[in-house]
Amino acid sequence: MSESQYDIIIIGGGPAGLTAGLYTTRSGLKTLLLEKVAPGGQAALAWTIENYPGFPEGINGPELTERIEKQAEKYGLEIKSGEVVKVSLSSEDERFKGKLEKVIKTEKEEYKTVALIVATGTRPRKLGVPGEERLIGKGVSYCATCDGPLFKNQNVVVVGGGDAAIEEALFLCRFAEKTTLIHRREELRATKIMQERAVSNPKLEFIWKSAVTEILGETEVEGVKVRNIETGKDLTLETKGVFVYIGTVPNTEFLKGILEMDEKGFIITDENMETSVSGIYACGDVRKKLLRQVVTACGEGATAGFAAGKYVGKWKGG
Ligand code: NAP
Repeated sequence: MSESQYDIIIIGGGPAGLTAGLYTTRSGLKTLLLEKVAPGGQAALAWTIENYPGFPEGINGPELTERIEKQAEKYGLEIKSGEVVKVSLSSEDERFKGKLEKVIKTEKEEYKTVALIVATGTRPRKLGVPGEERLIGKGVSYCATCDGPLFKNQNVVVVGGGDAAIEEALFLCRFAEKTTLIHRREELRATKIMQERAVSNPKLEFIWKSAVTEILGETEVEGVKVRNIETGKDLTLETKGVFVYIGTVPNTEFLKGILEMDEKGFIITDENMETSVSGIYACGDVRKKLLRQVVTACGEGATAGFAAGKYVGKWKGG
């Protein structure tokens, strides 16, 4: 086996990819994990994770993901940084079937592998309103855990009504003078416990049935324009920070035309995490599924690692 040839390559170093790597390396399979920036994924940005079993006081995201990484590396998981730009199969005529090696290209290197596990997760969805792109890093943020402390004693705005929006709004309340949550409906999508915490926090205010239509400011955020969806009335809110939590989009663009996906780009798998291409597996947030949490990501990573290992065994056995 040459240096760039692996039994298994995993793309993505969040909890799903790292757990898959823990399982494959413990089975003695030569495994490489490719990660765009640094391992940890979205979970590493979470201030506390309260629903991962075994940690009754909660555990912070970086600590949990560093622990999984250390555990996988202990068994021989090789981790390299590099953004995968293309995945192809070694024989063009027999695409999608049979004993075909998978060829993984990053901007600088090319690797070959028997089985591939895709664990590329999701990224924040953008609002797509004027001012957003221009003011990213100048008051527009998609990570309250990273940027929240910069807004001590200021007024900040959070957009969205899901678990992420509430969790991050509550985090911002620790620093900001006032946090205003703007949601397009009158009911939050977040789980009951998060909703209760949100409405009972005196530093959190709500603007319901409203959409942000523009982010104002030239060199830094100065405010937002908000439109009431029912009445059509506009108002301008002064703020230094806008935190956008309106869901996520899957990181699957480089796999279009290769793997079967739903209309939003989430990868479709069977119960063994195998995709529409034999020997390619997907796990974690990038899969089409009901529940996107660290606990489900880890469970799916274990299944994908185990199933990919069986595939490699069959491949090698003839
Ligand atoms: P989500 O649950 O899909 O919620 C997205 C929110 O953004 C919804 O309230 C939605 O409004 C709103 N929205 C969507 N598009 C919008 C637009 N164009 N303009 C304005 N608002 C828009 O996404 P999420 O909160 O990022 O969570 C993603 C997954 O991670 C979920 O499964 C969640 O449970 C999980 N998660 C869990 C935790 C936790 O367990 N502590 C923390 C974070 C995330 P509508 O409600 O009107 O559709």
